Amino acid sequence: MYKIAVAGTGYVGLVAGVCFAEMGHQVTCVDIDQNKVQLMKSGISPIYEADLQDLMIKNYKAGNLNYTTDYQSAYKDADAIFIGVGTPEQPDGSANLSYIATVARQIAESVEKDCLVIVKSTVPVGTNDKVEQFIQDFLINDVRVEVASNPEFLAQGSAVHDTLHAERVIIGTESKWAEELLQGIYKPFNLPIVSVNRRSAEMIKYASNDFLALKISYMNDIANLCELVGADIQDVARGMSFDERIGSKFLNAGIGFGGSCFPKDTKALDYLAKQNGYELKTVQAAIDVNKEQKTMLYKKASRRLITFNGLKVAVLGLTFKPGTDDLREAASLENIPLLLEQGADIYAFDPVGADNFAKVHPEGRHGRGSITYVSNVEEAIKDANVCFIFTEWGEVKDITPSMYKELMRTSLVYDGRNIYSVDEMEQAQVEYHSIGRKTVERQNIKELNERELHAARS
Ligand code: NAD
Repeated sequence: MYKIAVAGTGYVGLVAGVCFAEMGHQVTCVDIDQNKVQLMKSGISPIYEADLQDLMIKNYKAGNLNYTTDYQSAYKDADAIFIGVGTPEQPDGSANLSYIATVARQIAESVEKDCLVIVKSTVPVGTNDKVEQFIQDFLINDVRVEVASNPEFLAQGSAVHDTLHAERVIIGTESKWAEELLQGIYKPFNLPIVSVNRRSAEMIKYASNDFLALKISYMNDIANLCELVGADIQDVARGMSFDERIGSKFLNAGIGFGGSCFPKDTKALDYLAKQNGYELKTVQAAIDVNKEQKTMLYKKASRRLITFNGLKVAVLGLTFKPGTDDLREAASLENIPLLLEQGADIYAFDPVGADNFAKVHPEGRHGRGSITYVSNVEEAIKDANVCFIFTEWGEVKDITPSMYKELMRTSLVYDGRNIYSVDEMEQAQVEYHSIGRKTVERQNIKELNERELHAARS
C-alpha cells in the first residue's frame, strides 16, 4: 500500500485517484477548485462517468480516499504524487504547460520526504525532464524527488473500466527506483506493464492518440468519396475489418473527432514536429480533414434547405460522444451557432450534456434564432422540419425510423453517426442523409420544405 496524492480531479486525475484507492492505496485527491472538493466530499462526482460516483462513496467511507484543496498536507509525506491537471491547446497549437508548472512548484515547496512525481497529463516529449529540473530548482527540503511518465489512455464514457482493465500501463522512468515504485503501485491492478524511458513514454501517448485520429479522418475521407462514387462506407468498413492488420475498431465514419484529447493532441504533435524542423504531413492531413468534417451535415442541409430561418430544428446529442457530459470540441458547438445565425429554432436533447451546453448557449433567443432544451427525443423531433443527430446516445438509438415519420413535420434527418439503416429509413419514408452512404432525396419533402420556407419568409 502506498500513500498517493493526485493533483487535479478531472477525468484523468479523479478516475486515477479513485481506482488507486479501490486497489487499496491511501489516496488524497487535490484540486484548486473548492466547489469541486466540497461536492466530492459530499459524495457527488463533479463529472459524469459510469461507476465513478459509487466507487468514490465506497472508498471515501472506507477511509482510503480523501479530497482537499490543501496541497501541502497532501504532498508533504506522499510516496508518489500523480499530476493529472489539464494541458489545453494554446492559440499556436502548442500545449499550455502552466498548470503543470504550478503543481511542480507546489510539490517542490511541500515535500518533506523522498517521493516520485508522476506526470499523467499528456505532455510534449521532454516535459518530464523539465518538470524534474524545475522541482529540483525550487525544492525547499533536502529530499530526493524524481519524475516519471505514466500517460493515460482511458476513454471518456468508460473511464473507470478502462483504468481498472487497461490494455497496457506505460511507465517511463530514468532509474530502477522509480521503475520499481511505479510497478509496485500498479501491481494490484494485475495489468501488462510496458516499461520504457521517459521520452518514449511521452511519445507513445501522442503517437497512439494521433494514430487513432488519423484512422478516423482516413475513414471520413473515404466516406466522403463513397458518397460521390456510390459505395457504402459501412460495407467498406466491414470488409476492411476482417484484415487483422487493419483491425475492426475506429472504422466508423461520422462528423469528425472531438473531445479534450484528439483535437489538441494532433495539434500539439504537429507543433512539436515543426519546432524540431520536421513536417508531420500525415497528422496535418488528419487535422484538415477533421475541420471540414465537423460541419459536413450543416453544409449538406444548407444546400438542401437554402435557409433555416423559422424552421424547427431538432438536435439530438450535444456531447462529443455518448457516456460523458464533456462538450469539449463537440460537433454541436460548431454547428449550433451556425444554425442560430441562420434563424433556426433549435430544440436540443442530451441526457447529460444539456446543462453544460446551456452555460454556453442559454435557453432563449439568440439573434434571429432560438434554443430550447427538452427532456426527451420525442419532444425535440415533434413537428420539427429537420433533425440533426450529433451524438449516438441510447435514447436516440431507441427512436425508430417510423417515429421520425410520424412525429416530425417534414421527416428530414441528418445523421452524423450513421445510427440507422438506409433501407429502413427509406421504407419509413424518411429522407435520410448520413455519412458515406446513399441518400434518396424525396421530392415530397422538398416541396413541403419549400412551403415551410415560404411561410417563414412571409
Ligand atoms: P480536466 O480539465 O477535466 O481536469 C483538470 C483538473 O485540474 C481541474 O479540476 C482543475 O481544477 C485541476 N487543477 C488545475 N490546477 C491545479 C493545481 N495546481 N492543483 C490541483 N488541481 C489543479 O482535465 P482532464 O480531461 O482530466 O485532462 C488532464 C490531462 O490528462 C490532460 O493533459 C489531458 O490531455 C490528459 N488526458 C485526458 C484524457 C481524457 O479523456 N480527458 C485521457 C487521457 C489523457
